[in-house]
Amino acid sequence: MQLLLDRIRRDGKIREGNVLKVDSFLNHQMDIRLFSSIGEEFKRRFKDENITKILTIEASGIGIACVTAQFFDVPVVFAKKQQTKNITGSVYTSKVESFTHGRIYDIIVSKDFLSADDRVLIIDDFLANGSALLGLIKLVKDAGAALVGAGIVIEKGFQPGGDLIRNQGVRVESLAIIDSMTESDIVFR
Ligand code: 5GP
Repeated sequence: MQLLLDRIRRDGKIREGNVLKVDSFLNHQMDIRLFSSIGEEFKRRFKDENITKILTIEASGIGIACVTAQFFDVPVVFAKKQQTKNITGSVYTSKVESFTHGRIYDIIVSKDFLSADDRVLIIDDFLANGSALLGLIKLVKDAGAALVGAGIVIEKGFQPGGDLIRNQGVRVESLAIIDSMTESDIVFR
């Protein structure tokens, strides 16, 4: 998706620890026209899949998921990050290790909002080591729902998450895959 690649090259900032900051258009301020193009592209790629629900994780996946959901005309469910002590039997849960903060936390989705009848598309902003996506996949499996695939805005292809998850047979569609990044250059696959 050339529009996205150009934007990452123009406005992305490389930070210590292989972190790409895209706060000016994706993670803090949000460019909704760009989000619309992203949503349209996910629709093009997954149009024949009879998706009934989009699943994402708070916070930065929510905006992209909502704009994307308009193209599919389905609800968005977002997994909440929660402290272990509040977890009851009425939720699906899994654990995620935060790439940017290095902590492990629980994510939950109410059993009311994911069921065996659903065909789920997972949407997230980044794919790095794959922990967030693996956590979301577990929620879908625990609900007995069908996992159609994952739509990722930016995959850092030099980290292991993409291979790990594709090797499990999950369809992962990333709109931008970064093979390498330095302060002076970003190389896309
Ligand atoms: P993973 O679980 O695949 O290691 O990381 C995915 C999550 O970490 C994403 O939901 C995203 O919020 C965050 N993340 C991972 N790498 C980056 C990065 O380079 N930049 C930003 N802004 N977030 C990232």
